[in-house]
Amino acid sequence: MKAAVLTEWEKIEYKEVPKPQINEGECLVRVAYAGICGSDLHIYNGHHPTAKAPVILGHEFVGVIEALKTSQPTTFKIGDRVVVEPLISCNACEACREGNWHVCRTLKLLGIHTDGAFAEYVKVDLKKVIKISDRLSDRVAALTEPFAVGFHVNQRAGLKNGDNVLVIGGGPIGLIVGMVAKIGGAAQVIFSEINPARIKQIESFGFTTINPTQNGAMETLNQLTNNAGFDVVFEVSGSQPGLSFAVQACKIRGTVVLVGFPAKEPECDNLKVFFKELKLVGTRVYTFTDFQKTTKMLENIVQQKLFDLEKLISDTYELKDLEQALLVMKAGGNLGKILVKL
Ligand SMILES: [Zn+2]
Ligand SMILES: [Zn+2]
Repeated sequence: MKAAVLTEWEKIEYKEVPKPQINEGECLVRVAYAGICGSDLHIYNGHHPTAKAPVILGHEFVGVIEALKTSQPTTFKIGDRVVVEPLISCNACEACREGNWHVCRTLKLLGIHTDGAFAEYVKVDLKKVIKISDRLSDRVAALTEPFAVGFHVNQRAGLKNGDNVLVIGGGPIGLIVGMVAKIGGAAQVIFSEINPARIKQIESFGFTTINPTQNGAMETLNQLTNNAGFDVVFEVSGSQPGLSFAVQACKIRGTVVLVGFPAKEPECDNLKVFFKELKLVGTRVYTFTDFQKTTKMLENIVQQKLFDLEKLISDTYELKDLEQALLVMKAGGNLGKILVKL
């Protein structure tokens, strides 16, 4: 089969590799679309702490079951359209034993630590496969993984109907987090963003934005919440100013959810956390249930036309051009998700 293999850091080779052989309890998925994640770029750059080359990346994908091998009863059959929850947990650590497989002490991902979906075929544990409805197009279904991140962080926030929500950082994940918050009953979702192109993109989805580097940004925010501050602030930028702004904009006894991965260890204004009795909440990937429910949420978004999800996809590349797509991302040239079409 054809695959785009990361042979060494900063090098992708499009070449012929053996088709994966499936074992008991596994299936072979013929990939239709695979999304490129920020972490793929991170790995390509050689900055990921645990990834190793050579590997076939790609953990956000949709496809069709081509073959399966199981002696157990199964609801899956050849030809099913599926998405795949890509977490690989050890099943032995204390987190796994308590059922929190997504925060496994040695968590790994299909498509980061094992061969993933930037290839014609990928082999997958049947327990990780989720059948999708025909109402979901391949392109929208390829967004399930990033939407599962958005779903999970909203769960972690304990978002309630009528909450005022601030999202700091309006890249693809920030936008998704804001959409899920809106669907989840937020009274208003405001974005803090500094990049003019992104501001345009966010506003095209009907959201209000503020630019924190402009004068009067905090006053504008205060007006939007009648000086109360935000019930929930999602810090998606991973930046120091973002975190400082988050604890400042959050209301007394509000919740700051840490979504963006910080480039270096950030400093937090503990005095604000202390005096306002803020909740700081960490988040990591998603649970299997989050992933399953996300496919239903995507169906609702499409059926009820809540958001135009096609607008979230900024470009589509062929598999042989994966490296080119990564370089576009590296240069910051993409506003939304980039998909690879197989
Ligand atoms: Zn991802
Ligand atoms: Zn574990």
